[in-house]
Amino acid sequence: MTLIVRSGDAVAFTDWHRCFAEVMPELAVHNWPDPAVQAEDIRYAVVWEPDPGRLASFPNLRLIISAAAGVDHILRDPNLPRHLPLVRMVTPEQTQLMGEYVCWAVLSLMRRLPAIIALNASRGWNSNLTGEPIADTRVGVMGLGAMGSRAAEMLVGLGYATAGWSTTQKTIPGVESFAGASAFPAFLARTDILVCLLPLTPSTEGIINADTLALLPPGASVVNAGRGGHVVMADLIAGLDSGHIKSAMLDVFTPEPLPQDSPVWEHPGIFVTPHVASFGSRRARARHIASTIAAFERGEPLVGLYDPQRGY
Ligand code: NAP
Repeated sequence: MTLIVRSGDAVAFTDWHRCFAEVMPELAVHNWPDPAVQAEDIRYAVVWEPDPGRLASFPNLRLIISAAAGVDHILRDPNLPRHLPLVRMVTPEQTQLMGEYVCWAVLSLMRRLPAIIALNASRGWNSNLTGEPIADTRVGVMGLGAMGSRAAEMLVGLGYATAGWSTTQKTIPGVESFAGASAFPAFLARTDILVCLLPLTPSTEGIINADTLALLPPGASVVNAGRGGHVVMADLIAGLDSGHIKSAMLDVFTPEPLPQDSPVWEHPGIFVTPHVASFGSRRARARHIASTIAAFERGEPLVGLYDPQRGY
């Protein structure tokens, strides 16, 4: 059984190798750029942003596993062997980390952390920067899948009035569920902090645009930890400049890294985090990969299987 890994640099590969030796010692593991790789040996691939066409060059490939939760970075390959099962990376560790990031981001925006950091830089003192209490703040989570449902649960635990928006109706204790396009305006109208945890698909690309922002109450804030392609940046900046949107915390961008000359860096209303919301440990991801391969070999259903009909 041979696996090829494209995720991180040579140091990361050494770590992957060590992790797989622990969880699935029978697996032969190769690094993507290894010139000694025999294409016909490869049966499984774990990838982040694979070079277009390379996956199609493995004639005996049976299963593709994303090194991250999203699969948009794989679907971009025009030669992707679409007949093969494609599995997303979803571990309890990642969903917990995402919940922590979202709670931290929401609390930071509500307790004015960006303004307080700026004040620190000038040794300023302004005891009016007390922020907004939880009791007065309604959070709305777009996407109630693996990441969004855990984030919503944790927001409820903090005491936020929390709602979620998804394709299908959900039952999560304490979370008001809005489903489908027709419910989107009502969901936005009751949302003071909009959190995006949608997958990037043709129907969600650019969803945080001028029309969406206009439906949020004045003074609302935005947290995006989905994908950079969800935000129309010019519209978000216009919303911030007009004062309709108060602040934004963004973790994901197109492209990444965020270019040095991007206006986002300069904007006082935007707080940037460098795609750090939920980066699962290699050990936990290797465990998930090993159990996925074992389930595949036994012909069992796969957790996190990409559904081409839904697009996520
Ligand atoms: P997921 O389990 O596939 O969940 C997707 C959710 O979005 C589901 O609740 C789905 O509704 C909903 N949805 C999809 N299309 C929709 C539409 N057009 N309208 C309304 N709802 C829609 O995805 P996930 O694993 O939670 O990942 C969510 C996002 O987080 C992805 O973009 C992923 O790339 C990103 N992510 C980022 C980081 C980071 O470090 N920043 C880390 C991990 C993941 P149904 O449930 O009804 O199908």
